[in-house]
Order: sequence, then C-alpha cells, then structure tokens
Amino acid sequence: MAEKPIGIIGAMATEVEALLAAMQEEKVEEFSGLAFHSGTLEGVACVVAECGPGKVNAAVCAQTMVLRYSPRLVINVGVAGGVGPQVHIGDLVVAAACVQYDFDTTAMGDPLGTLFIRRASGENEDILLLPCCEEAAGLLLKEARSIYGGAHFGVICTGDVFVADAEKNQFLQEKFEAHAVEMEGGAIAQVCYMNSVPCAVLRAISDCANDDSPMDFPAFTKMAAEKTGKLLGAVLPRL
Ligand code: SAH
Repeated sequence: MAEKPIGIIGAMATEVEALLAAMQEEKVEEFSGLAFHSGTLEGVACVVAECGPGKVNAAVCAQTMVLRYSPRLVINVGVAGGVGPQVHIGDLVVAAACVQYDFDTTAMGDPLGTLFIRRASGENEDILLLPCCEEAAGLLLKEARSIYGGAHFGVICTGDVFVADAEKNQFLQEKFEAHAVEMEGGAIAQVCYMNSVPCAVLRAISDCANDDSPMDFPAFTKMAAEKTGKLLGAVLPRL
C-alpha cells in the first residue's frame, strides 16, 4: 500500500505557494470545492490545500483531507498575529496546543474556549486545550533553531477575528499564555483530535495583533510565509 501522505493546510495562497511550487505534483483533485494537490515534497508524499481564512473553512478542508487522503499527520502553516511583548514580527511559533478562544459559553459557567466533543461511543468530552503532536513540534523547533536561531513554543489562539487590538492581545496572553493568534489552527486541531490524527501548527508572525496590524499584515505576510515554507521543507524528510 502507498505510504500515507502528510497533509499541509494554509489559509491563503501566499502561505502555500512556495510549497506548491516546490512540489513534484501528481494530481489535483477537487473535494468540498477545494483543490487538493498530491505529490511529493523533498521526496515525502504530501497533500497540500489552501483552505481560506477562518475556522469553518479550515475545518471543512481538514475533515475532507482526513476522509479522502488519510494523512498520517496534518500540518497547518501560515502567518499569525504575535501575542505578548516577547513575540516579534518575523518570529516563528510552534503550537504546543491550540485554543478556540472565541467559543464562549461562559454565561453558562464554562471556561472560555471549552469545546464539547460528541462521540458515537457515548464518551463525550469537554476540552479546552487542543493537543498538538509532540514529536512533530519537537522536530519543527529543532529545525527552527538551526535555520533561524529559535522559535516560540506554546499556546496558539484561534478565532474568527483578525485581532488588531492591544487589549485583546494582552487578554489572550494573560488568559491562555498565548504566543500567537490566528484564524484556523484550533479548528484544524479539533478536526484532527476528533479523527485521532496527529497535527502540528507552525506560524510566522506577520503582525503583532495591535493597532499597527492592518498595515503590518500586508507588509510582512510574504516574508513570514516564506519562513514557514522553508522550515517545513527542511523538516519534512524527518517527519
Ligand atoms: N482579507 C484577508 C483575510 C485575511 S485574515 C485576506 O485574505 O487577505 C488573516 C489571516 O492571517 C488569517 O488566515 C489568520 O490565520 C492570519 N492572521 C495573521 N495575523 C492575524 C491577526 N492579527 N489576527 C488573526 N489572524 C491573523
């Protein structure tokens, strides 16, 4: 049987274009209205898709990828807003876990970001921190050290909001000890968790999720996306 591929999902064309250009492509298929590019990257079987921004787009893409391609690992790559004073434009962040910070049933007494997972077995679960694969995260961090001198490792917050607000930034840092905020990682991590597929989230900081973000995002996204593409290319043969 053919080796199971590694799935790679980016929200925007800029985040996947370098990977697609480097890919030895075998085929492009359309499912759920999205294009799935299968082939090899650095000799490793991969399937790459651009999902579009936001949690629903990301979840549709990840679930479709899981059902159609049975990936052995799903990696979400892209750019993000930096959270906290330690995180700067151009820095890399590898997720230890993701939180959907905009999922809010706090009025009913649940902690902010708690998700309610249903299972056919009846073993339902409430979950806040969506886990990421430790081995993949470790390899990404190791490679980030050797290429870029390091990366941040910690919680990445996901929500359907482009955050450009210093107060919100501080809140996410204090509440979740977050290092980055974006719009897809937590949705992909949830889909992977529900399907028992390991996942990793790798982001480069395009803006600092503050007043300057609307200007910084277009200015730095290309540079940031190139960093994640290069790092991923280097690490793929070891994943
Ligand atoms: N109209 C825009 C929408 C981009 S939304 C476009 O397509 O160009 C911003 C994207 O970058 C999302 O995919 C998100 O994951 C990431 N991102 C970067 N900075 C962010 C921030 N400050 N807050 C939330 N998401 C951010």
